Amino acid sequence: MTDLFKTKTVSARKRIALVAHDNKKDDLIDWAIYNKAVLSKHQLFATGTTGKLLEEALDISVVKLLSGPLGGDQQIGALIAEGKIDMLFFFWDPMEAQPHDPDIKALLRLCVVWNIPMACDRATADYIVTSALMHTEYETAVPDYKNYLKRRIG
Ligand code: PGA
Repeated sequence: MTDLFKTKTVSARKRIALVAHDNKKDDLIDWAIYNKAVLSKHQLFATGTTGKLLEEALDISVVKLLSGPLGGDQQIGALIAEGKIDMLFFFWDPMEAQPHDPDIKALLRLCVVWNIPMACDRATADYIVTSALMHTEYETAVPDYKNYLKRRIG
């Protein structure tokens, strides 16, 4: 049986999470500087090191969570599960294994579980950040896992 969707209104001021692995930090910071005018209209969250670099580069305050390998990716995942993050820009490194690879997989999974837009490369990030929806309220579909939970309980 198909699970139903509810809807919720995402505010014009989005809650944006940003994460970049070490080899991708320059890329994310460069992208963020280029898009500072848009990003500054929203509330920014980031893993520790990424957040510190973003604050320095943009002169915008960022809610800094723990560093990724210390649990920061999991904190962002938890915020997504609680409905407290509206989108994720996650420049992960496809060329190098990370000590916290399971956390990264978990974060990517939760974005799909909760229908959260996610950009893992610069091209996708460009499309999202230039969307008209960045500046307006947005009626988004929130998957309803009621039937899934019922099936599991039996
Ligand atoms: P960092 O974490 O921003 O603290 O470097 C990012 C990550 O590796 O997930």
